[in-house]
Amino acid sequence: MPITGNAIKFDYIAEHIANPNDDCWRWPWRHTTDGRPRIDYARTSFTVYSTAYEIKYGLVPEGYELGHKCFNAWCWNPDHVRPITHAENMAEKVKVSNAH
Ligand SMILES: [Zn+2]
Repeated sequence: MPITGNAIKFDYIAEHIANPNDDCWRWPWRHTTDGRPRIDYARTSFTVYSTAYEIKYGLVPEGYELGHKCFNAWCWNPDHVRPITHAENMAEKVKVSNAH
């Protein structure tokens, strides 16, 4: 079962959610090529902030995706993301890239 190998990762997520803070959380395991933390289960790859958000707050509403308030794509603190539309997410990314 692939779930077994993930037990330590889900424990890690649960421990952080149970003891939240305002920091940006770094994921010590695998990331996607664009730097997003990822976890594999049920034969699919999920971003860790989506998983953490859903554990803490429930499913992201249909038609929405999670945007980072902290603008750190690697951060998986569920309090640093919130559901926004794809258009809003793209607009924020433009703003951030223009700022640098
Ligand atoms: Zn963050």
